[in-house]
Amino acid sequence: MYGVMNSVRTRFAPSPTGIMHIGNVRAALLNYLFAKQNNGTFVLRIEDTDQQRNIELGTQHIIRHLKWLGLIYTEGPEVGGDFGPYFQSERSDTYQKHLEILHEKDFVYRCFCTPEELEIRRNRQIAMKRAPRYEGTCLKLTKEEVTQKLNDKTSYIWRMKVDSSKKVSFKDLARGVLEFDLQHFSDFPLTREDGTFTFIFANCIDDCEMKMSHVFRGEEHLSNTVSQTVLYQALEYALPTFWHLPILCNQEGKKLSKRDKGFSLDDVENQGFLPETICNYLGILGASFEQEIMSLDLLAKNFKFDHLHGASQIKYDIEKLKWMNHKWIASYDLDKLVQLCKPFLAKQYDLSKISDEQLTLFIKLIQNDLQTLLDSVDQLKFYFEKPSVRRDTLSGIIEPEKIDLLFNILKNEPTTPAWDQFLSNIKPKTKAAGITDKEMFGTVRTLLTGSPKGMQMNDLFTCLGAEEFFVRIKQQL
Ligand code: GLU
Repeated sequence: MYGVMNSVRTRFAPSPTGIMHIGNVRAALLNYLFAKQNNGTFVLRIEDTDQQRNIELGTQHIIRHLKWLGLIYTEGPEVGGDFGPYFQSERSDTYQKHLEILHEKDFVYRCFCTPEELEIRRNRQIAMKRAPRYEGTCLKLTKEEVTQKLNDKTSYIWRMKVDSSKKVSFKDLARGVLEFDLQHFSDFPLTREDGTFTFIFANCIDDCEMKMSHVFRGEEHLSNTVSQTVLYQALEYALPTFWHLPILCNQEGKKLSKRDKGFSLDDVENQGFLPETICNYLGILGASFEQEIMSLDLLAKNFKFDHLHGASQIKYDIEKLKWMNHKWIASYDLDKLVQLCKPFLAKQYDLSKISDEQLTLFIKLIQNDLQTLLDSVDQLKFYFEKPSVRRDTLSGIIEPEKIDLLFNILKNEPTTPAWDQFLSNIKPKTKAAGITDKEMFGTVRTLLTGSPKGMQMNDLFTCLGAEEFFVRIKQQL
């Protein structure tokens, strides 16, 4: 049975065991978009059964990130819902109940093999070039042997019986119905030695109990889906429709990892990427759209979930992410942009030196040049940190023998209230001295900002104000 549920219910099911990275975000986003497109429900479930690997504040980070991205869930931690609790650590009773059902139906057995024994057998299989799988050792134990081991208090885990003579199938949104021969799959564990429940088991029970109609997750879960299909069948639950999302790779085609720039969400946030950009970029990745810049609402409207292709890899391109961020920044409401730039600037500069009005003017002038919010720090450096320019900084900007000529002209330039006036004063003099406009502008800009590149000269004049403009120039001469 697949795809027979009436209302669309999707979920994001992260484990609070590490940072939120761009792959997680893509999974969350696609589940969110699908629910939104179908007037369905998007659920957040925290998969925290592995207590040893959970990190402090892991859940809070996930919730904060989802809010920041605008991926609002309608059921889950903090908001509740009819299918809670939404933390796996609070759902042990449900798992226990299902384990008992499976036990009654004779789908499970106790496995007393120690991790060391399993490891030795596994290595032997690998050495013999066989795919490592559990050989069913404990399935062969007699009732008496099991009773004896229980009396001896030998520790054990529960395993699911997988009938290797059978095949299973499920529907994948991108690849259609996929069929797998179970002879390649082991009797998988449902519990751990400490009595807690495994990912495969808890995750499947929750998807059943929470009535998920669609499960979109990374391709690395494909073999888990096969095992879980066995559970769905044993428990007579309807299968959701799956979508195993292509792995995100770097430009070299390697799976995206911590070493790659822009891998973690904290990273991209701290570099000044906007949440709109991140959702937009991850939403169009691997698909083609006529119009690439899209809000979450537009993405939800335009995303074609019935036109997916089965690529197993897609490339994450930080340069494209920058381009898109540039577009989003350029389209942003100015006051909002100023508020977003402020924390970046405040980390570096004393913002009490600048009025809100002035800062707004600055941001307006650089808005179209920003790729990230962090760029504002560099672009406005000249204002907060007066440059001290050495003569050799000017090489390549103006011919060396003209430097003194230009300095002399500048020294005697009267303070004018407007840029145009300054220009009409100085131009005849520089022209007579054989100094080109390019040399003059480049030099003046460098004296003011420390760099020959940056905002337009008239804007610079406006930003600094006439007084500061002339003071700075004269101080440098
Ligand atoms: N907790 C799993 C993970 O973070 C969930 C996978 C899934 O979406 O089923 O990989």
